[in-house]
Amino acid sequence: MKRKIVQAFSAIITNANIQGFLKGTIYKGKFKNICVPGLNCYSCPGALGSCPIGSLQAVLGSYKYKISFYVSGLILLFGGLLGRWICGWLCPFGLLQELLYKIPIKKVKLKGNLQKLRWIKYVVLAVFVIILPLFVTNIAGYGSPAFCKYICPAGTIEAALPLILADSSLLLGVGWLFFLKVSIALAVVISSMIIFRPFCRILCPLGAIYGWLNKISLYQMEIDTDLCTSCGRCQEQCKLDIEIYKNPTSAECIRCGECIPVCPTQAITSGIKFRKKPQSTEDKII
Ligand code: SF4
Ligand code: SF4
Repeated sequence: MKRKIVQAFSAIITNANIQGFLKGTIYKGKFKNICVPGLNCYSCPGALGSCPIGSLQAVLGSYKYKISFYVSGLILLFGGLLGRWICGWLCPFGLLQELLYKIPIKKVKLKGNLQKLRWIKYVVLAVFVIILPLFVTNIAGYGSPAFCKYICPAGTIEAALPLILADSSLLLGVGWLFFLKVSIALAVVISSMIIFRPFCRILCPLGAIYGWLNKISLYQMEIDTDLCTSCGRCQEQCKLDIEIYKNPTSAECIRCGECIPVCPTQAITSGIKFRKKPQSTEDKII
């Protein structure tokens, strides 16, 4: 419940430009210079800030600024502090998928070989966010934001569709790309009703970056190995089927905390953790 409140609050704050929804316009004020921590389309009529993945592609594709230390530094700062806690608690598109998952129909867990689908998001990050914007450029030397252009369902659902609803004349300009993106968005919406957060697990390049940072972030899940009996109840509870008791820094864990209260021995804790200094050999012997 606490997490749902934080998620709802974050989604509202991130998209507080209500006027934009009513008028079908995009806010372009000074807050747009700031990236929000979660995936939230720049062109969403409600968006007050910029999407970190959209900004990263924009600077990589820009003739002048191939690497922006501001954008990459901000992503590293967010991820270095909180890792995928951002996915679990702050990302508006994560919340949308969780609400769709509440629709009472048969659910499927991504188990066994299906877990390998998670590697796709690293390919998406490498190809669509970095390589294409960097190297496929137009005559003026500008690359296009390939992830936003060809894939991002958040952009379709949060930006394209509300803007078209507010101004139907925009429909005159749509072509095959629009239909491709609507098909991807539709696939994400339908699969979100059956699978828990499929976009975050399979396609999201921001989740891929924050997942890597889960290993070193200040916010950590921790298992007290003296208390843990390897009963596996935490994994049963986890909608992402993570063996958190074996791998507390898993790149897939969104730090939702739902496994914590089910542990019969209270072996799981989470929060800002400063790494302990390794013990000296003498200490270990004692
Ligand atoms: S539920 Fe607790 S005791 Fe059981 S495996 Fe998970 S961390 Fe260990
Ligand atoms: S391991 Fe625990 S905190 Fe991580 S996603 Fe699963 S239930 Fe949430």
